[in-house]
Amino acid sequence: MATTAKTIWQDILENGVRKVVEDLSDAQAIEMTERFGTHNYHPLPVNVVRAKGAYAYDGDGKEYIDCIGCYSAVAHGHLSEFITKSVVEQLDKVTLVSRAMYTSELALFLKGICEFTGMDLACPMNTGAEAVETAIKLARKWAYTVKGVPKDKAEIIVAEDNFHGRTTTIVSFSTEQQYKEFFGPYGPGFKIVPFGDIDAVKAAITPNTCAVLMEPVQAEGGIIFPPPGYMAELRQVCTENNVLLIWDEIQTGFARTGKKFAWMHEDAKPDMMCLGKALGGGIFPVAAVVGLEHVMKVFVPGDHGSTFGGNPVGCVVALAAMAEMEQKDLCANSEKMGNRLLSKLKALPHKCIEDVRGRGLLIGLEVLEGTDTKKLSEAFIKQGLLTKETRNRTFRFAPPLIVDEKLIDQIVERASKALDAVS
Ligand SMILES: *Cc1c(COP(=O)(O)O)cnc(C)c1O
Repeated sequence: MATTAKTIWQDILENGVRKVVEDLSDAQAIEMTERFGTHNYHPLPVNVVRAKGAYAYDGDGKEYIDCIGCYSAVAHGHLSEFITKSVVEQLDKVTLVSRAMYTSELALFLKGICEFTGMDLACPMNTGAEAVETAIKLARKWAYTVKGVPKDKAEIIVAEDNFHGRTTTIVSFSTEQQYKEFFGPYGPGFKIVPFGDIDAVKAAITPNTCAVLMEPVQAEGGIIFPPPGYMAELRQVCTENNVLLIWDEIQTGFARTGKKFAWMHEDAKPDMMCLGKALGGGIFPVAAVVGLEHVMKVFVPGDHGSTFGGNPVGCVVALAAMAEMEQKDLCANSEKMGNRLLSKLKALPHKCIEDVRGRGLLIGLEVLEGTDTKKLSEAFIKQGLLTKETRNRTFRFAPPLIVDEKLIDQIVERASKALDAVS
Protein backbone atom coordinates (compact mmCIF):
# COMPACT_ATOMS: atom_id res chain seq x y z
CA MET A 1 0.00 0.00 0.00
CA ALA A 2 1.05 3.61 -0.61
CA THR A 3 2.96 5.28 2.19
CA THR A 4 0.72 8.32 2.14
CA ALA A 5 -1.73 8.15 5.01
CA LYS A 6 -4.75 8.23 2.70
CA THR A 7 -7.58 6.14 4.10
CA ILE A 8 -9.51 3.63 2.00
CA TRP A 9 -12.46 6.00 2.16
CA GLN A 10 -10.55 9.04 0.89
CA ASP A 11 -9.08 6.92 -1.89
CA ILE A 12 -12.51 5.61 -2.89
CA LEU A 13 -14.17 9.01 -2.75
CA GLU A 14 -11.42 10.61 -4.85
CA ASN A 15 -10.99 7.85 -7.41
CA GLY A 16 -14.09 5.70 -7.29
CA VAL A 17 -14.37 2.13 -6.01
CA ARG A 18 -13.56 0.65 -9.42
CA LYS A 19 -10.16 2.33 -9.65
CA VAL A 20 -9.15 1.39 -6.11
CA VAL A 21 -10.14 -2.23 -6.74
CA GLU A 22 -8.18 -2.31 -9.98
CA ASP A 23 -5.06 -0.98 -8.25
CA LEU A 24 -4.81 -4.18 -6.18
CA SER A 25 -2.49 -6.85 -7.50
CA ASP A 26 -3.54 -10.51 -7.32
CA ALA A 27 -1.01 -11.09 -4.53
CA GLN A 28 -2.28 -8.10 -2.55
CA ALA A 29 -5.89 -9.25 -2.90
CA ILE A 30 -5.05 -12.74 -1.68
CA GLU A 31 -2.98 -11.44 1.24
CA MET A 32 -5.64 -8.93 2.30
CA THR A 33 -8.37 -11.58 2.18
CA GLU A 34 -6.35 -13.93 4.37
CA ARG A 35 -5.42 -11.12 6.75
CA PHE A 36 -8.89 -9.65 7.31
CA GLY A 37 -11.29 -12.49 6.59
CA THR A 38 -12.21 -15.43 8.79
CA HIS A 39 -10.61 -18.56 7.46
CA ASN A 40 -13.74 -20.59 6.73
CA TYR A 41 -12.77 -21.22 3.11
CA HIS A 42 -9.66 -22.56 1.41
CA PRO A 43 -9.77 -20.95 -2.03
CA LEU A 44 -7.72 -21.90 -5.07
CA PRO A 45 -4.79 -19.47 -5.40
CA VAL A 46 -6.52 -17.59 -8.22
CA ASN A 47 -7.74 -13.99 -8.04
CA VAL A 48 -10.49 -13.42 -10.59
CA VAL A 49 -10.68 -9.83 -11.81
CA ARG A 50 -12.97 -10.33 -14.79
CA ALA A 51 -15.24 -13.03 -16.20
CA LYS A 52 -17.33 -13.42 -19.33
CA GLY A 53 -19.34 -16.40 -20.52
CA ALA A 54 -17.52 -19.55 -19.41
CA TYR A 55 -14.17 -17.78 -18.98
CA ALA A 56 -12.56 -16.09 -16.00
CA TYR A 57 -9.32 -14.07 -15.93
CA ASP A 58 -6.80 -13.20 -13.24
CA GLY A 59 -4.87 -9.96 -12.90
CA ASP A 60 -2.11 -11.19 -15.23
CA GLY A 61 -4.68 -11.82 -17.93
CA LYS A 62 -4.40 -15.60 -17.61
CA GLU A 63 -7.53 -17.27 -18.97
CA TYR A 64 -9.40 -20.02 -17.13
CA ILE A 65 -12.45 -22.05 -18.07
CA ASP A 66 -14.79 -21.87 -15.12
CA CYS A 67 -15.87 -25.44 -14.37
CA ILE A 68 -17.00 -24.53 -10.86
CA GLY A 69 -19.54 -22.00 -12.14
CA CYS A 70 -20.08 -20.77 -8.59
CA TYR A 71 -21.37 -24.23 -7.63
CA SER A 72 -23.92 -24.11 -10.46
CA ALA A 73 -25.06 -20.57 -9.66
CA VAL A 74 -23.52 -19.36 -12.92
CA ALA A 75 -25.75 -21.17 -15.41
CA HIS A 76 -26.20 -18.41 -17.98
CA GLY A 77 -22.49 -17.69 -18.18
CA HIS A 78 -20.78 -14.73 -16.56
CA LEU A 79 -22.37 -11.38 -17.42
CA SER A 80 -25.19 -12.62 -19.62
CA GLU A 81 -26.07 -9.58 -21.71
CA PHE A 82 -29.82 -9.89 -21.29
CA ILE A 83 -29.72 -10.33 -17.52
CA THR A 84 -27.15 -7.57 -17.06
CA LYS A 85 -29.20 -5.18 -19.19
CA SER A 86 -32.33 -5.99 -17.19
CA VAL A 87 -30.53 -5.14 -13.95
CA VAL A 88 -29.05 -1.90 -15.30
CA GLU A 89 -32.52 -0.76 -16.39
CA GLN A 90 -33.90 -1.60 -12.97
CA LEU A 91 -31.22 0.53 -11.28
CA ASP A 92 -32.94 3.61 -12.73
CA LYS A 93 -36.24 2.77 -11.07
CA VAL A 94 -36.34 1.19 -7.62
CA THR A 95 -34.00 -1.26 -5.89
CA LEU A 96 -35.19 -1.82 -2.37
CA VAL A 97 -38.43 -1.50 -0.52
CA SER A 98 -39.62 -4.06 1.97
CA ARG A 99 -42.48 -6.49 2.17
CA ALA A 100 -44.32 -3.67 3.94
CA MET A 101 -45.24 -2.54 0.42
CA TYR A 102 -46.17 -4.17 -2.86
CA THR A 103 -44.00 -3.94 -5.96
CA SER A 104 -44.81 -4.88 -9.54
CA GLU A 105 -41.44 -6.64 -9.78
CA LEU A 106 -42.33 -9.01 -6.94
CA ALA A 107 -45.79 -9.61 -8.38
CA LEU A 108 -44.36 -10.68 -11.72
CA PHE A 109 -41.63 -12.75 -10.08
CA LEU A 110 -44.14 -14.72 -8.00
CA LYS A 111 -46.37 -15.41 -11.00
CA GLY A 112 -43.35 -16.22 -13.16
CA ILE A 113 -41.70 -18.67 -10.79
CA CYS A 114 -44.98 -20.50 -10.17
CA GLU A 115 -45.47 -20.83 -13.90
CA PHE A 116 -41.85 -21.89 -14.50
CA THR A 117 -41.98 -24.58 -11.81
CA GLY A 118 -45.59 -25.70 -12.18
CA MET A 119 -46.24 -24.87 -8.52
CA ASP A 120 -49.04 -22.88 -6.83
CA LEU A 121 -47.38 -20.46 -4.43
CA ALA A 122 -43.89 -19.08 -3.81
CA CYS A 123 -42.07 -17.57 -0.82
CA PRO A 124 -39.07 -15.42 -1.85
CA MET A 125 -35.80 -15.55 0.07
CA ASN A 126 -32.17 -14.61 -0.64
CA THR A 127 -29.94 -17.61 -0.07
CA GLY A 128 -30.34 -21.34 -0.44
CA ALA A 129 -29.98 -22.05 3.25
CA GLU A 130 -32.80 -19.60 3.93
CA ALA A 131 -34.97 -21.42 1.41
CA VAL A 132 -34.28 -24.73 3.19
CA GLU A 133 -35.07 -23.16 6.57
CA THR A 134 -38.30 -21.79 5.09
CA ALA A 135 -39.30 -25.22 3.77
CA ILE A 136 -38.62 -26.78 7.18
CA LYS A 137 -40.86 -24.20 8.88
CA LEU A 138 -43.63 -24.76 6.32
CA ALA A 139 -43.41 -28.54 6.70
CA ARG A 140 -43.55 -28.33 10.49
CA LYS A 141 -46.49 -25.93 10.56
CA TRP A 142 -48.27 -28.19 8.06
CA ALA A 143 -47.58 -31.13 10.40
CA TYR A 144 -49.24 -29.45 13.37
CA THR A 145 -52.07 -27.59 11.67
CA VAL A 146 -53.04 -29.98 8.87
CA LYS A 147 -51.68 -33.48 9.53
CA GLY A 148 -52.33 -33.39 13.28
CA VAL A 149 -48.85 -34.26 14.59
CA PRO A 150 -48.58 -33.57 18.37
CA LYS A 151 -46.89 -30.24 19.13
CA ASP A 152 -43.08 -30.21 18.77
CA LYS A 153 -42.97 -33.87 17.69
CA ALA A 154 -42.65 -33.41 13.92
CA GLU A 155 -39.92 -35.45 12.24
CA ILE A 156 -38.22 -34.80 8.92
CA ILE A 157 -36.35 -37.58 7.12
CA VAL A 158 -33.09 -36.59 5.43
CA ALA A 159 -30.25 -38.44 3.70
CA GLU A 160 -26.72 -39.29 4.78
CA ASP A 161 -24.07 -37.13 3.09
CA ASN A 162 -26.64 -34.42 2.44
CA PHE A 163 -25.82 -30.81 1.83
CA HIS A 164 -28.53 -28.24 2.50
CA GLY A 165 -26.54 -25.24 3.76
CA ARG A 166 -24.74 -24.06 6.88
CA THR A 167 -27.23 -22.65 9.38
CA THR A 168 -27.33 -24.08 12.90
CA THR A 169 -30.54 -26.02 12.21
CA ILE A 170 -29.25 -27.37 8.91
CA VAL A 171 -25.85 -28.51 10.20
CA SER A 172 -27.75 -30.33 12.95
CA PHE A 173 -28.69 -32.98 10.39
CA SER A 174 -25.46 -32.95 8.38
CA THR A 175 -23.40 -36.14 8.54
CA GLU A 176 -20.19 -34.34 7.59
CA GLN A 177 -18.14 -34.16 10.77
CA GLN A 178 -16.52 -30.82 10.00
CA TYR A 179 -19.79 -29.06 9.21
CA LYS A 180 -21.13 -29.75 12.68
CA GLU A 181 -18.31 -30.40 15.14
CA PHE A 182 -18.20 -27.63 17.78
CA PHE A 183 -21.43 -26.07 16.52
CA GLY A 184 -23.84 -27.91 18.81
CA PRO A 185 -26.17 -28.16 20.60
CA TYR A 186 -28.00 -29.53 17.59
CA GLY A 187 -31.63 -29.04 16.71
CA PRO A 188 -33.77 -32.18 17.05
CA GLY A 189 -36.48 -33.48 14.73
CA PHE A 190 -34.44 -35.08 11.94
CA LYS A 191 -33.96 -38.73 11.04
CA ILE A 192 -31.06 -39.66 8.82
CA VAL A 193 -31.27 -42.56 6.34
CA PRO A 194 -28.83 -43.81 3.67
CA PHE A 195 -29.28 -41.97 0.35
CA GLY A 196 -30.97 -44.02 -2.36
CA ASP A 197 -32.39 -46.70 -0.02
CA ILE A 198 -36.18 -46.68 -0.28
CA ASP A 199 -36.66 -49.36 2.38
CA ALA A 200 -34.73 -47.24 4.86
CA VAL A 201 -37.15 -44.36 4.23
CA LYS A 202 -40.15 -46.67 4.71
CA ALA A 203 -38.69 -47.96 7.98
CA ALA A 204 -37.99 -44.44 9.26
CA ILE A 205 -41.54 -43.14 8.73
CA THR A 206 -43.63 -42.79 11.89
CA PRO A 207 -47.02 -41.10 12.47
CA ASN A 208 -45.03 -37.96 13.34
CA THR A 209 -43.12 -37.82 10.05
CA CYS A 210 -44.08 -34.66 8.18
CA ALA A 211 -41.58 -34.58 5.35
CA VAL A 212 -38.74 -36.14 3.44
CA LEU A 213 -36.12 -33.53 2.47
CA MET A 214 -33.52 -34.61 -0.07
CA GLU A 215 -31.38 -33.52 -3.00
CA PRO A 216 -32.23 -35.37 -6.25
CA VAL A 217 -28.46 -35.63 -6.82
CA GLN A 218 -26.00 -35.16 -3.96
CA ALA A 219 -23.76 -32.60 -5.61
CA GLU A 220 -21.63 -31.51 -2.65
CA GLY A 221 -21.61 -35.10 -1.42
CA GLY A 222 -19.49 -36.03 -4.46
CA ILE A 223 -21.99 -35.98 -7.38
CA ILE A 224 -23.89 -39.03 -6.14
CA PHE A 225 -26.96 -40.28 -8.03
CA PRO A 226 -29.69 -42.38 -6.44
CA PRO A 227 -30.57 -45.68 -8.14
CA PRO A 228 -32.98 -45.38 -11.10
CA GLY A 229 -36.58 -45.30 -9.92
CA TYR A 230 -35.73 -44.01 -6.45
CA MET A 231 -37.18 -40.54 -6.90
CA ALA A 232 -40.50 -41.86 -8.23
CA GLU A 233 -40.68 -44.47 -5.47
CA LEU A 234 -40.00 -41.80 -2.88
CA ARG A 235 -42.89 -39.78 -4.28
CA GLN A 236 -45.16 -42.80 -3.94
CA VAL A 237 -44.06 -43.65 -0.42
CA CYS A 238 -44.60 -40.04 0.67
CA THR A 239 -48.07 -39.94 -0.84
CA GLU A 240 -49.09 -43.25 0.75
CA ASN A 241 -47.98 -42.03 4.19
CA ASN A 242 -49.28 -38.45 4.01
CA VAL A 243 -45.72 -37.17 4.15
CA LEU A 244 -44.49 -34.13 2.19
CA LEU A 245 -41.79 -34.58 -0.41
CA ILE A 246 -39.35 -31.66 -0.48
CA TRP A 247 -36.67 -31.58 -3.17
CA ASP A 248 -33.69 -29.36 -2.55
CA GLU A 249 -33.10 -28.29 -6.16
CA ILE A 250 -30.85 -25.38 -5.21
CA GLN A 251 -27.92 -26.84 -7.12
CA THR A 252 -29.60 -29.33 -9.46
CA GLY A 253 -32.43 -27.06 -10.59
CA PHE A 254 -32.71 -24.75 -13.59
CA ALA A 255 -31.41 -27.11 -16.27
CA ARG A 256 -28.20 -28.17 -14.54
CA THR A 257 -28.89 -31.87 -15.09
CA GLY A 258 -30.52 -31.45 -18.52
CA LYS A 259 -34.10 -31.08 -17.27
CA LYS A 260 -35.64 -27.96 -15.77
CA PHE A 261 -35.50 -29.73 -12.42
CA ALA A 262 -33.74 -32.99 -11.64
CA TRP A 263 -36.89 -34.68 -10.27
CA MET A 264 -38.28 -34.44 -13.82
CA HIS A 265 -36.06 -37.32 -14.86
CA GLU A 266 -38.70 -39.41 -13.08
CA ASP A 267 -42.33 -39.00 -12.07
CA ALA A 268 -41.45 -37.38 -8.76
CA LYS A 269 -43.20 -34.01 -8.47
CA PRO A 270 -42.66 -32.66 -4.95
CA ASP A 271 -44.96 -30.81 -2.58
CA MET A 272 -42.24 -28.20 -2.16
CA MET A 273 -38.96 -27.29 -3.86
CA CYS A 274 -36.08 -25.21 -2.53
CA LEU A 275 -34.53 -23.03 -5.21
CA GLY A 276 -31.55 -20.69 -5.30
CA LYS A 277 -28.17 -20.47 -7.01
CA ALA A 278 -28.92 -20.20 -10.79
CA LEU A 279 -32.16 -18.34 -10.01
CA GLY A 280 -29.87 -15.37 -9.40
CA GLY A 281 -28.72 -15.33 -13.03
CA GLY A 282 -25.07 -15.33 -11.97
CA ILE A 283 -25.49 -11.83 -10.60
CA PHE A 284 -27.31 -11.56 -7.33
CA PRO A 285 -28.54 -13.96 -4.62
CA VAL A 286 -32.15 -14.94 -5.16
CA ALA A 287 -33.80 -17.96 -3.56
CA ALA A 288 -37.32 -19.20 -3.01
CA VAL A 289 -39.49 -22.02 -1.82
CA VAL A 290 -42.22 -22.97 -4.25
CA GLY A 291 -44.91 -25.48 -3.48
CA LEU A 292 -48.44 -26.73 -3.66
CA GLU A 293 -51.20 -24.70 -2.09
CA HIS A 294 -52.12 -27.29 0.55
CA VAL A 295 -48.75 -26.71 2.23
CA MET A 296 -47.81 -23.14 1.30
CA LYS A 297 -51.12 -21.72 2.56
CA VAL A 298 -50.23 -22.48 6.20
CA PHE A 299 -48.12 -19.30 6.44
CA VAL A 300 -50.03 -16.30 7.79
CA PRO A 301 -48.71 -12.72 8.21
CA GLY A 302 -45.86 -12.64 10.71
CA ASP A 303 -44.95 -16.34 10.42
CA HIS A 304 -41.88 -15.74 8.30
CA GLY A 305 -39.99 -13.02 6.49
CA SER A 306 -36.79 -11.52 5.21
CA THR A 307 -35.72 -7.89 4.85
CA PHE A 308 -34.21 -8.36 1.41
CA GLY A 309 -36.31 -11.32 0.27
CA GLY A 310 -38.35 -10.41 -2.80
CA ASN A 311 -36.50 -7.12 -3.42
CA PRO A 312 -37.10 -5.56 -6.85
CA VAL A 313 -33.55 -6.08 -8.17
CA GLY A 314 -33.54 -9.74 -7.19
CA CYS A 315 -36.96 -10.24 -8.77
CA VAL A 316 -35.81 -8.67 -12.04
CA VAL A 317 -32.65 -10.77 -12.07
CA ALA A 318 -34.66 -13.95 -11.53
CA LEU A 319 -37.26 -13.06 -14.14
CA ALA A 320 -34.56 -12.34 -16.71
CA ALA A 321 -32.75 -15.55 -15.73
CA MET A 322 -35.84 -17.72 -16.21
CA ALA A 323 -36.77 -15.98 -19.47
CA GLU A 324 -33.30 -16.49 -20.89
CA MET A 325 -33.30 -20.11 -19.80
CA GLU A 326 -36.46 -20.65 -21.87
CA GLN A 327 -35.24 -18.63 -24.85
CA LYS A 328 -31.85 -20.34 -25.11
CA ASP A 329 -33.28 -23.77 -24.25
CA LEU A 330 -30.54 -24.33 -21.70
CA CYS A 331 -32.08 -27.71 -20.81
CA ALA A 332 -31.34 -29.05 -24.26
CA ASN A 333 -27.86 -27.56 -24.32
CA SER A 334 -27.07 -28.88 -20.86
CA GLU A 335 -28.11 -32.37 -21.90
CA LYS A 336 -26.27 -32.30 -25.22
CA MET A 337 -23.06 -30.72 -23.97
CA GLY A 338 -23.22 -32.80 -20.80
CA ASN A 339 -23.33 -36.01 -22.83
CA ARG A 340 -20.38 -34.85 -24.89
CA LEU A 341 -18.30 -33.88 -21.85
CA LEU A 342 -19.20 -37.07 -19.99
CA SER A 343 -18.29 -39.41 -22.82
CA LYS A 344 -15.06 -37.55 -23.60
CA LEU A 345 -13.95 -37.54 -19.95
CA LYS A 346 -14.83 -41.24 -19.73
CA ALA A 347 -12.63 -41.91 -22.75
CA LEU A 348 -9.54 -40.37 -21.14
CA PRO A 349 -6.82 -43.01 -20.77
CA HIS A 350 -5.39 -41.85 -17.42
CA LYS A 351 -5.02 -44.67 -14.93
CA CYS A 352 -5.68 -42.43 -11.92
CA ILE A 353 -9.33 -41.98 -12.95
CA GLU A 354 -11.58 -44.18 -10.86
CA ASP A 355 -14.96 -43.02 -12.12
CA VAL A 356 -16.64 -40.34 -14.20
CA ARG A 357 -20.34 -39.82 -13.58
CA GLY A 358 -22.86 -37.13 -14.32
CA ARG A 359 -26.08 -35.97 -15.80
CA GLY A 360 -26.33 -32.86 -17.95
CA LEU A 361 -23.54 -30.49 -16.98
CA LEU A 362 -23.21 -31.76 -13.42
CA ILE A 363 -20.27 -34.09 -13.77
CA GLY A 364 -17.81 -35.54 -11.28
CA LEU A 365 -14.42 -37.01 -12.07
CA GLU A 366 -13.27 -39.22 -9.22
CA VAL A 367 -9.62 -40.16 -8.94
CA LEU A 368 -8.21 -43.26 -7.28
CA GLU A 369 -7.31 -43.24 -3.62
CA GLY A 370 -3.67 -42.33 -3.26
CA THR A 371 -3.71 -39.86 -6.16
CA ASP A 372 -1.93 -36.63 -5.28
CA THR A 373 -5.07 -34.44 -5.41
CA LYS A 374 -3.18 -31.35 -4.30
CA LYS A 375 -0.81 -31.72 -7.23
CA LEU A 376 -3.73 -32.43 -9.56
CA SER A 377 -5.53 -29.36 -8.31
CA GLU A 378 -2.45 -27.24 -9.09
CA ALA A 379 -2.16 -28.85 -12.52
CA PHE A 380 -5.78 -27.94 -13.36
CA ILE A 381 -5.01 -24.32 -12.48
CA LYS A 382 -1.82 -24.37 -14.52
CA GLN A 383 -3.76 -25.64 -17.53
CA GLY A 384 -6.36 -22.91 -17.10
CA LEU A 385 -9.21 -24.95 -15.69
CA LEU A 386 -11.06 -23.97 -12.53
CA THR A 387 -12.34 -27.07 -10.75
CA LYS A 388 -12.39 -28.00 -7.10
CA GLU A 389 -12.60 -31.24 -5.20
CA THR A 390 -15.95 -32.10 -3.65
CA ARG A 391 -15.93 -34.93 -1.15
CA ASN A 392 -14.37 -38.30 -2.03
CA ARG A 393 -11.60 -37.11 -4.39
CA THR A 394 -14.20 -36.07 -6.94
CA PHE A 395 -13.47 -33.03 -9.09
CA ARG A 396 -16.45 -31.05 -10.24
CA PHE A 397 -17.07 -30.27 -13.91
CA ALA A 398 -20.04 -27.92 -13.86
CA PRO A 399 -19.39 -25.16 -16.40
CA PRO A 400 -22.03 -22.58 -17.32
CA LEU A 401 -24.84 -24.11 -19.37
CA ILE A 402 -24.11 -21.91 -22.40
CA VAL A 403 -20.96 -23.83 -23.39
CA ASP A 404 -20.64 -25.08 -26.96
CA GLU A 405 -18.86 -28.05 -28.51
CA LYS A 406 -15.61 -26.17 -28.97
CA LEU A 407 -15.52 -25.23 -25.32
CA ILE A 408 -16.29 -28.77 -24.19
CA ASP A 409 -13.38 -30.04 -26.25
CA GLN A 410 -11.15 -27.36 -24.75
CA ILE A 411 -12.17 -28.47 -21.25
CA VAL A 412 -11.29 -32.08 -22.05
CA GLU A 413 -7.97 -31.12 -23.60
CA ARG A 414 -6.97 -29.06 -20.57
CA ALA A 415 -8.19 -31.73 -18.14
CA SER A 416 -6.20 -34.37 -20.00
CA LYS A 417 -3.00 -32.33 -19.78
CA ALA A 418 -3.56 -31.73 -16.06
CA LEU A 419 -4.13 -35.45 -15.46
CA ASP A 420 -0.83 -36.17 -17.22
CA ALA A 421 0.87 -34.43 -14.29
CA VAL A 422 -0.21 -37.10 -11.81
CA SER A 423 -0.18 -40.13 -14.11
C1 LIG B 1 -25.56 -24.39 -2.24
C2 LIG B 1 -26.61 -25.27 -1.68
C3 LIG B 1 -27.40 -24.89 -0.57
C4 LIG B 1 -27.14 -23.62 0.21
O1 LIG B 1 -27.27 -22.47 -0.55
P1 LIG B 1 -26.61 -21.10 -0.03
O2 LIG B 1 -27.07 -20.08 -1.02
O3 LIG B 1 -25.13 -21.30 -0.03
O4 LIG B 1 -27.14 -20.85 1.34
C5 LIG B 1 -28.40 -25.75 -0.17
N1 LIG B 1 -28.62 -26.91 -0.80
C6 LIG B 1 -27.89 -27.31 -1.87
C7 LIG B 1 -28.21 -28.60 -2.54
C8 LIG B 1 -26.85 -26.52 -2.33
O5 LIG B 1 -26.10 -26.93 -3.35
